[in-house]
Amino acid sequence: MPAARAQGTTARLDTNENLVIPRSAASAALAAARRAVDVREYPDGGAERLAAAIAGHVGVPARCVVVGSGSDQILDLAVAHLLARRSRVLVTDPTFSFFEARLALHGMRAVRVPFGPDMAVDMGALEGAARGADAIYLDSPNNPTGFQFPERRLRRLIRSFGGLVIIDEAYAAFAGYSLAAMARAQENLAVVGTLSKSFGLAGLRVGYAVMPPAMARAFASVIQYPYPVSSVSIEAAVASLGERGAAAAREAAAAVTSERARLVRGLSAHANIEAFPSQANFVLFDAGGSHRQVHRALAEQGISVRLIGRVGGRRGCLRATVGTREQNSRLLMAIRDIMG
Ligand code: PMP
Repeated sequence: MPAARAQGTTARLDTNENLVIPRSAASAALAAARRAVDVREYPDGGAERLAAAIAGHVGVPARCVVVGSGSDQILDLAVAHLLARRSRVLVTDPTFSFFEARLALHGMRAVRVPFGPDMAVDMGALEGAARGADAIYLDSPNNPTGFQFPERRLRRLIRSFGGLVIIDEAYAAFAGYSLAAMARAQENLAVVGTLSKSFGLAGLRVGYAVMPPAMARAFASVIQYPYPVSSVSIEAAVASLGERGAAAAREAAAAVTSERARLVRGLSAHANIEAFPSQANFVLFDAGGSHRQVHRALAEQGISVRLIGRVGGRRGCLRATVGTREQNSRLLMAIRDIMG
């Protein structure tokens, strides 16, 4: 969380924001919102224009799209109202920490399948564990590993599973594929997305999900709040989803992908570090036993990365957001100094 960052932090590489997309892209969208919005009025209740703009961007019918105040809110409502009480929910270990916290809050039981030391999940083990679960949640790409589940095996798992499957694609803009189109007609599937990462709009809090029409109708008219997204966020997001905004998002995603490869190479060049391939806008790396020292030493230089700890049997992992070229170079130089 930004508030928890040490004072003097100059490179914020711990919350997977999109720092690569130019700030001017969002400014233009905010200016458009300022002209369009009269905040004395309530927003468009169903946020239909926003849902339609997202549907156009994703390439699905608008009747399949619901929106929320960040994808966090959509995930929370899904756990609270789409799952039966005390459901056994299949997740990986690790997974998005907020989701696990919501499962606990709502009295659900997590069935965990661990990552291996190669930072991949054994799909056979996942399929086996699914037989003992009522629902499935997978963040694909996964936070914090950056692993994206193999597409064909994942599609097969969804088709063969009897309960609700939530696929969280917060980072899909940086990945190889998306299952959003599958959710149009797959009656047990909800694919969750966000404009926080792809469009660099984390502060606006605009998330969405693609679902079959019947699920979307129930979600939007019964489960969701009356005005889930502010009028300023609606208008700025609609403006961002236009041609210029979408082009800026695409360019940023391409820049993130090439910088990500540079970070993985640069980090892995150190004998005591292993960086794992990622399909997201962050890189997980194992610093062996020295992850705490590395974390502290980076903080002293104004660079914040996320302390993750044990993952997949690895001793001490850190997660760094892929930042601008200059920020990534600073991170690599700082690590070089620290590792000697
Ligand atoms: N899903 C995953 C896997 C995430 O890592 C995050 C953000 N850290 C979110 C969802 C939430 O994103 P937002 O609420 O900004 O849409």
